[in-house]
Amino acid sequence: MKALRERILRDGKCFEGGILKVDNFINHQMDPILMKSMAVEFVRRFASTDINKVMTVEASGIAPAIMVGYLLELPVVFAKKKKPSTMENMLVTSVYSFTKDRSYDVCVSGDYLCKGDKVLFIDDFLANGNAAKGVIDLVRQAGAELVGMGFLIEKAFQHGGDYLRGQGIHVESLAIIESLDNCEIKIRE
Ligand code: 5GP
Repeated sequence: MKALRERILRDGKCFEGGILKVDNFINHQMDPILMKSMAVEFVRRFASTDINKVMTVEASGIAPAIMVGYLLELPVVFAKKKKPSTMENMLVTSVYSFTKDRSYDVCVSGDYLCKGDKVLFIDDFLANGNAAKGVIDLVRQAGAELVGMGFLIEKAFQHGGDYLRGQGIHVESLAIIESLDNCEIKIRE
């Protein structure tokens, strides 16, 4: 998506270890106009998909996911990174975070991720695919069906996308980063 590619090149910052910081428009300050355009693009790319629920992981997936849910007029459920003591019917999985170098549990209530749901997962970044694997596990535990995964930014050099596409999952990424070597952002045209 051209507008996102241009914005990454203008405002994105590279950090050691292959991390792209987009705090100016996605992860801290947010640009709702761009967020809406990205959601419109997801809706276009998943137009032929039967979806009844949008899912994400807190916190940074919530903004794009709610925009997509708003456009599709569908409920949005986010997996939580802290287990609330009051959550009923809890489904839990473990996710390894490479940005934080540790594993953490994510959970969702089976009241909101249900058997028979057709789930579109939306998140900000796809890197190694660990968060995505956790979501696949939660969807499986719920007896729901994962019909697609949409990411604002995919870092192709970390190969999570290869894994997910290899599993036959419909993956759409709005900007694909080929490399962040030498702190230079190279984006696929
Ligand atoms: P994965 O589980 O695919 O390895 O990483 C995905 C998660 O890690 C995303 O939800 C995102 O929060 C975080 N992440 C991975 N790479 C980056 C990055 O380069 N920049 C930022 N801001 N977050 C990232």
